[in-house]
Amino acid sequence: MGTIIGIDLGTTNSCCAFMERGEPRIIINEEGGRTTPSVVGFAKDGERFVGEVAKRQLVVNPEATVYAIKRFMGRRYRECRADMGLVSYPILEGATGECAVEVLGRQYSPREISALVLQKLKKAAEDFLGEPVTEAVITVPAYFTDSQRQATRDAGTIAGLDVLRIINEPTAAALAYVHDRRKASTIAVYDFGGGTFDVSILRVDRDVAEVKATRGDNQLGGADLDRMLLEWLAAAFARENGVPLPTDKVVMQRLRDAAERAKLELSTASSTDVALPFLFVDASGPRHLQVTVTRAIFEELIADAVERTLVECRAAVRDAGLAVEQIDEVVMVGGSSRIPLVQERVKALFRRPLNKGFNPDEVVAIGAAIQAGMLEGDIKGVTLLDVTNFSLGIEVAGGRFARLIPKNTTLPTVARRQVSTVVDNQRSVKIHILQGESERARENVSLGEFELNNIQPAARGLPRIDISFGIDANGIVEVSAKDTRSGISEALRIDAPAGMSKQELLQLTESHAAAAHSDEEAKKLRAIRKTIEGQIVGLEGFQRIHQGELHRSDLDGLDQALKRARMAVLKSQDVPNLTELSTYLVRVQQHLKARVGV
Ligand code: ADP
Ligand code: MG
Repeated sequence: MGTIIGIDLGTTNSCCAFMERGEPRIIINEEGGRTTPSVVGFAKDGERFVGEVAKRQLVVNPEATVYAIKRFMGRRYRECRADMGLVSYPILEGATGECAVEVLGRQYSPREISALVLQKLKKAAEDFLGEPVTEAVITVPAYFTDSQRQATRDAGTIAGLDVLRIINEPTAAALAYVHDRRKASTIAVYDFGGGTFDVSILRVDRDVAEVKATRGDNQLGGADLDRMLLEWLAAAFARENGVPLPTDKVVMQRLRDAAERAKLELSTASSTDVALPFLFVDASGPRHLQVTVTRAIFEELIADAVERTLVECRAAVRDAGLAVEQIDEVVMVGGSSRIPLVQERVKALFRRPLNKGFNPDEVVAIGAAIQAGMLEGDIKGVTLLDVTNFSLGIEVAGGRFARLIPKNTTLPTVARRQVSTVVDNQRSVKIHILQGESERARENVSLGEFELNNIQPAARGLPRIDISFGIDANGIVEVSAKDTRSGISEALRIDAPAGMSKQELLQLTESHAAAAHSDEEAKKLRAIRKTIEGQIVGLEGFQRIHQGELHRSDLDGLDQALKRARMAVLKSQDVPNLTELSTYLVRVQQHLKARVGV
């Protein structure tokens, strides 16, 4: 069986891990990094590069470098206005109303960009493991809506990965904690990354991890802190020079870069110098930026943002029906959780030392790998009781929103409701599915709608239509409606409202699969490998039992066959070759059995 990898597909950085003999291990990428910047760069000749190389070209080529694409995944253009200013590349309205990016005259959907990042991780995993990788568990922020989850899954499909599970990032962090501790406790997972902030309260046990509540702000992350510092730097420049900084893209990108570097330094140093020589040239000659930033200044700039995360923490604790004193431990996740002020404030809020046992950049990927290990059956399962992060319901008379599954319900879950017709002999009803917290339907996010037709004619209010709502363990929604008298039913698996059709997805997948193995091939490969692994175990057992009865030459032959088989299982991707090997192993076994007379 091939290895299932666990992927933390981050806004800023992505990380990939797998299970090796029951323990999680990080996959090192081609450049030797443990994490990979979620950045895709495009060159004029159509070449694309991903990760560190792409991040480096950001300064010189900001318009052809796409970063923080996760902010736009599965979202409609008109919902994204606030985020557009945070990136240097243009965001457009795609054909179906979803966001799209335009790079060098070609449009890409966010899922295509994410697929390129995933493809790089997949390739790194294959090189690292020496075998094809076709299956993955991918994490998403707790606050991702259904359409954002679907988009993530689509990105996996485009990259040639079968996404077996989508799990929440904080849940993954909790899994890593459970794996490590195996101690019953109530924990808070505080995840402050580059683009999002999440906090979850979980009850973990030896074999159960239950999310009690989860909160967050998917518009708050380290990039926002960079922007605060950038604005301060720009103001300092204007004050010093009496002229404002031009808003030229390259200048802004250099400044953003410098702001992030200063921020990183201020996590360990108490002050840092920002020097950007020849930032631009105007009538009076070249202009330089040279300024010292102290940690105190930086802390003042970000204090409100940090406070906002604490507000969410308090709310999450309250949602869980607990008091802060009842939180046993706080697990810090995400690069921004390294900021001293953040640690100080979180510690003060929970009045607890923070758990420092995990690398905040890796813990989510490790949790995803643990989930993958459970799917593989390699490690004992921890039952994951996740919760929905939004209420789900339908539109009812008067444009109101009828909540069928309230926020923070444990997953998987199913809810039912009966509706009826509003006019006599009405033959069809329209079911409009929404998610959100407003009482008014139009203020919530529409997930889709469908019609139940051919209802048996009857006086209004008489037909009984059963609506069933399900959310599976991946947080993906399925809705069905059934006319109880005729038995006619309709079901809808919710695709992203601005999502792609299956056909489009297939086309993309095909075009991306050129380099990769086809799914079918991969399946065959997995099957034959499994067979050979079984044969190896059989032959090893035979060897142990009958060692004393076999001739030296037979033992040598057996040794060689085993060696060849082990090597092939590890290295070969050639299905016909492996099939031949398997037949050969059958013959070896028959021959040896005949020798010892069994
Ligand atoms: P994401 O989950 O969004 O991919 P990460 O968890 O990788 O993000 O965090 C990336 C963010 O963390 C970036 O904004 C980066 O600047 C910030 N970061 C990383 N290390 C540090 C540090 N030592 N001090 C402050 N911020 C940091
Ligand atoms: Mg993250």
